Amino acid sequence: MAKIYFIDVTNRDGVQTARLGLSKLEKTMINIYLNEMGIFQSEFGFPTTKHEQYYLQANLELADMGVLQPIRLGGWIRAIVEDVEKAFELVPNIKHLNLSISTSDQMIQGKFLGKKSRKDIVKMMVDAVEAARGHGAESIGVNAEDASRTDTDFLIEFALAAKEHGADRFRYCDTLGYDNPFTIYESAKTLAKHVGMPIELHCHGDLGMAVANSLAGAKGVIDGGQDAYINTTVNGIGERAGNADLIATALAATKSKGFAGKYQLATPLDLKKAWKISRFASYAFKVPIPINQPGVGANAFAHSSGIHADGVLKDPQNYELYSFDELGRGEPELVETGREICSGEYGGVSGFRHIMGRMEVTFDDPKQAEEILELVRYANVEAQKPLVEDELLFIAKCPKIAKKLLTLIPEE
Ligand SMILES: [Zn+2]
Repeated sequence: MAKIYFIDVTNRDGVQTARLGLSKLEKTMINIYLNEMGIFQSEFGFPTTKHEQYYLQANLELADMGVLQPIRLGGWIRAIVEDVEKAFELVPNIKHLNLSISTSDQMIQGKFLGKKSRKDIVKMMVDAVEAARGHGAESIGVNAEDASRTDTDFLIEFALAAKEHGADRFRYCDTLGYDNPFTIYESAKTLAKHVGMPIELHCHGDLGMAVANSLAGAKGVIDGGQDAYINTTVNGIGERAGNADLIATALAATKSKGFAGKYQLATPLDLKKAWKISRFASYAFKVPIPINQPGVGANAFAHSSGIHADGVLKDPQNYELYSFDELGRGEPELVETGREICSGEYGGVSGFRHIMGRMEVTFDDPKQAEEILELVRYANVEAQKPLVEDELLFIAKCPKIAKKLLTLIPEE
């Protein structure tokens, strides 16, 4: 039986969201946490965007060093030859790409304003796939933007053309969150059967069904005989109402009635990392986790009403579908309530030594401390908030990589 994989797109859909963003170091930490969780792939950015090039290159170096292994790092570009050329120019070592183009009549008409036909769309995509293959891309996903508003026959034609020219996966994008579990199941199953290649499900929450649609879509793909790749973001952060939340989708795939046990993940996810990644993303995006968020919300394991409290005390399974410790919750957390020394873009060596000393990090000589501190200052310029311990430890451990990913050169 075919399996389910997770492709997290926080560092692409999440960071392109209005009002929200992550520093290059925060994106790197997200990639590291996703890797620790066992996520198959992180869509780690835009290789045609100049200010991302050093971040992307640095993260590919982390992959070579074994720090970001076994996770795959995939870039997102438009399915046009120019983007493929630019991607390999700015990020020569990029290995995995998703190429995206609109397929619905609404978008073909509404965006290309009568200048492109369906045939042109297929041709642009095919040329881009061949260019990416020519540059040695190891895996290529082809995205049908607005797939849920695209005629199924055309989607099949489009996906078959992608497959024939060397694409490895087809991404079904419910770009506007238009599908429901019933429709996406049918579409996904039909596509899997007729196209015969692995299918990604990219779902949005405009109608509040991103997680449900991801699960139903995955079921459709697997029932159609192919592997399913679910796109998620941490805390569901994404365009407009957001994407399928990583933790909620992972819980749904592994705990829900009639699905868990029958439909299997390709590799197990370490959900014990859920609490950490969700909290970090909340801090980094400056977006609080909703009190009722599945698994990681403050109320996810809270009980006050008499019948519920009594029931859960007698046997947690009376009122809890899964346990808090499965998600890495339950450890006491230290919150400073008195004097605090934190990192900042104008920090000095004394405060820095104090912060690092708390984590039992010492330096060989004053020069080394000054070098790390300088990088911490630059990281703070981007983050505009104190760095967390893992970020400081990362800089201390991989200063060369940190220096690279913090590099922004708009002048050149
Ligand atoms: Zn999206």
